[in-house]
Amino acid sequence: MIVLKFGGTSVGTAARIQQLVPLINNDSPKIIVLSAMSGTTNALVEIADYIRTKALVEANNSIDQLRQKYHTVILELFNSSRYRQKGAQLLDKHFKILKDCCRLDLDEEHEKIVLAQGELLSTNLLQLHLSERKITAVVLAALDFMRLNRQGEPDLDYINHQLNQVIARYPSNQIFITQGFIARTAEGAVSNLGRGGSDYSASLIGAAIQAKEIQIWTDIDGMHNNDPRYVEGTSALAKLSFVEAAELAYFGAKILHPLSIGPAKDKDIAVRLKNTLQPQAKGTLIGKKIEGEGVKAIAAKDAITVIKIQSDRMLMAYGFMRHVFEVFERYQTPIDMVATSEVAVSISIDKPLHLPNIVKDLEEYGRVEVDHRLSIICIVGNYISDKGGIAAEIFKCLDSIPVRMISFGGSRHNISILVKEDNKQSALKALHQLFTP
Ligand code: ADP
Ligand code: ASP
Ligand code: MG
Repeated sequence: MIVLKFGGTSVGTAARIQQLVPLINNDSPKIIVLSAMSGTTNALVEIADYIRTKALVEANNSIDQLRQKYHTVILELFNSSRYRQKGAQLLDKHFKILKDCCRLDLDEEHEKIVLAQGELLSTNLLQLHLSERKITAVVLAALDFMRLNRQGEPDLDYINHQLNQVIARYPSNQIFITQGFIARTAEGAVSNLGRGGSDYSASLIGAAIQAKEIQIWTDIDGMHNNDPRYVEGTSALAKLSFVEAAELAYFGAKILHPLSIGPAKDKDIAVRLKNTLQPQAKGTLIGKKIEGEGVKAIAAKDAITVIKIQSDRMLMAYGFMRHVFEVFERYQTPIDMVATSEVAVSISIDKPLHLPNIVKDLEEYGRVEVDHRLSIICIVGNYISDKGGIAAEIFKCLDSIPVRMISFGGSRHNISILVKEDNKQSALKALHQLFTP
């Protein structure tokens, strides 16, 4: 079996949904993982915000606008009045859930229920479209198998067991469709894997069924060698290793959810990035083998916070770092970059939720300063820090840009540089020039 995940743009209009049919309708058994139609999750986030703040007129207006959009989709997607009616019934069901939420004091689960409607709509619309074309497909409810553990991470054993069990109920079925993004908590409440999480769903599903391949279909022809939203003239990479792809995804290459490579890597399942708008393009193949040498791609992650702890107590002391790291552990805040001198340590994080507590606790060990709005620029490749002169080249090409931190030598695959967010684009462009032959 293979897994094919189609992102928001790939199901963004009725025409786009229709264009998926030739990609789906062939002999190989598959699970199709869908995102919500593009724009839907943003609209649902807005609706949830309106409901939470009791802006009910605005909430109802946004719900009506969204329904109008889906109404047009149904008219364009289906040929027969029978299927248009089925489509309208589907809309009735999901938009009633949204309207019902307007009457509630929106708690966290209700908010997640609002957000879940996008993927529930897209998957059922695709199934109806296939059915109108006499193609059989079974919708598997992601909420029946995609579950988080008490730490909020995917519960791999549960997912494996449940998913394989539901699939086994349909021994002769070739096409399964399921929702990306949505999941349940360990307690069974509706939740999700975070924005962009459908890639992660696809990888978790692929790992659970030991898929032959996980294909991520999106609106670009693979992983580019720099961020195409900020740099002109980027190009797709034919191959990447799991390690390289995971670094790029984690450090801002939006084409992949930051955690989506992990499950595929653990089960050694190839991940192929493909373009729905250009299915004949080769795309990027991500696998175990690390090939080639030198810099392959550059990505950037925004909204980074740096915390500097300065203390004479660090001098010649041992155990100081442990205390510092323990503070971050206490508040479950992952650390990205670390730079130390004799009397100071700078640490970068991307989840500032517990920052006030972290600062308060760190003040016990020294003077604390905090910097916001920074970007990590991540240079990824193979044996990059082994090559003589590379650090000099990087610094030279960034000579007009103040560099706040650098991480070099932590791995052979990554050099990271921290700059102000305002300088990110110039840094990406300068590095692109440097590394593109
Ligand atoms: P989907 O809705 O299919 O999940 P996303 O918008 O999440 O698609 O991801 C695709 C987008 O990722 C591209 O349109 C592109 O702008 C952006 N992107 C950022 N960095 C990269 C990169 N290095 N390579 C390819 N795409 C990238
Ligand atoms: N629909 C969700 C989002 O917009 C998940 C996804 O598209 O991957 O974030
Ligand atoms: Mg995405």
